[in-house]
Amino acid sequence: MQELTALLGVRLSVNADVREAHGAGYSYHECMPPDVVVFPNTTEEVSGIVSICAKYGIPIVPFGAGTSIEGHVLALRGGICIDLREMNQVLEVNKDDMYVLVQAGVTRNQLDELLEGTGFFFPIGPGVNATLGGMASTRASGTNAVRYGTMKDNVLSLTAVLPDGKIIKTGSKAKKSSAGYDLTRLLVGAEGTLGVITELTLKLHSEPETIYAAVCAFPTVEAAVATAIKTIQKGVPIAKIELLDAAMMGAINRYSSLDYEEVPTLFLEFHGAVAEVEGQILKVEEYAHSFGAADFVWEKDEARRKRLWRARTDAAPSAMALRPGAKLMSTDVCVPISQLAKCIVDTQQDIEKTGIMAPILGHVGDGNFHLTILINPEDNEEFERAKALNERLVRRALAMGGTCTGEHGIGVGKLQYMALEHGDSLDMMRAIKHAIDPQNLMNPGKLLPEQ
Ligand SMILES: Cc1cc2nc3c(=O)[nH]c(=O)nc-3n(C[C@H](O)[C@H](O)[C@H](O)COP(=O)(O)OP(=O)(O)OC[C@H]3O[C@@H](n4cnc5c(N)ncnc54)[C@H](O)[C@@H]3O)c2cc1C
Repeated sequence: MQELTALLGVRLSVNADVREAHGAGYSYHECMPPDVVVFPNTTEEVSGIVSICAKYGIPIVPFGAGTSIEGHVLALRGGICIDLREMNQVLEVNKDDMYVLVQAGVTRNQLDELLEGTGFFFPIGPGVNATLGGMASTRASGTNAVRYGTMKDNVLSLTAVLPDGKIIKTGSKAKKSSAGYDLTRLLVGAEGTLGVITELTLKLHSEPETIYAAVCAFPTVEAAVATAIKTIQKGVPIAKIELLDAAMMGAINRYSSLDYEEVPTLFLEFHGAVAEVEGQILKVEEYAHSFGAADFVWEKDEARRKRLWRARTDAAPSAMALRPGAKLMSTDVCVPISQLAKCIVDTQQDIEKTGIMAPILGHVGDGNFHLTILINPEDNEEFERAKALNERLVRRALAMGGTCTGEHGIGVGKLQYMALEHGDSLDMMRAIKHAIDPQNLMNPGKLLPEQ
């Protein structure tokens, strides 16, 4: 402790409230606070902290904004939480090479504001104001991924502190490279189990000339998903295509006093030059009609477009408002798109049989959807029913060639599915972890089930 205090002075806390605030994240898991929380300013300070931890065998949990939902930041073995919020500087915006260099604690909203008016944007955005270090560490995506990819596609290079305190830089600023193992993509999605990311070079994208948004009601989930599949298969470069089921539309109506039809609904966004975008809308509207949908409601004016999308943006709080005091257990399976309708419909039948409240929203262009399961954490029987529903869903998705998590990550909540999904290749993941972190100090107990 003396060595840490000498390094950080007042940027270290053992206050119970501060520790509590770092012990759960946005998850339904019970809070497990760290012993100490530290707030470094620089990569060198992170290296100093990690070196002290390596010397004394102290566990480390990196912390961004704490919005992860699978118990990623629980301090299962106590130790030190490294909160990167003070590392919030945008270090370079390079318009010629279309990248931005940021410290890991820069948040999504902060980057958006900084880029406003530059003609560029960063497309990855979870529904909350996460940090870019946290987003890289969970390999996050969100509504734009169908066109612009996920964090794995948008991080060019990283600076990271390894478990022995060594500072490394991965990748380069070049658009592509064949030079050796891809350490950038190894650290992206590592959930803080291999090192602490301190800086990221991120790809920028040109702002589209125009953006149109549309909403369309469907008679069935199958019809909505069939429209999404046809849109993707026909190569329409749609920017967002999101499904909300009837239960979620009901939640939104109640939350925002709206009067949408309570049926499966697609929210769509189109990016490009005006003529291109209008052509895309006509095509997708024709596909929707062929599956029995009504006409699109669409907007191009920015304020009205944002109002139209507000219903989708408010989906999570709308669902939460259905059951005040409940905790959110979000599922996150992702399946090959041809299997998506069946996976959702089978799951809806399962929800009905289980008698649990679980409105659905999906990034359907990617085959990814979430049940927003609302549970009373005090009610053990209900909690077990919810977990069983989640498990059946994961097994259904895996049987269809999918994954237990499209974008939220493993944390502790999905550990039990890693062997089921990866089989023998889990051994290679364990070998990598052991080679890089032989003392198992970096976020221990997460991502890899222990043997
Ligand atoms: C309402 C709601 C909606 C959401 N919607 C989406 C969505 O649409 N798409 C999506 O992908 N996610 C979504 N999420 C999940 C969440 O926002 C993401 O997982 C996000 O990427 C976490 O970022 P964070 O900064 O909060 O990280 P944290 O929660 O602080 O940390 C997440 C993990 O990364 C590690 N970590 C954090 N920073 C670093 C670092 N600098 N170096 C190494 N490891 C680090 C932590 O140890 C932890 O394991 C949503 C969450 C909520 C609550």
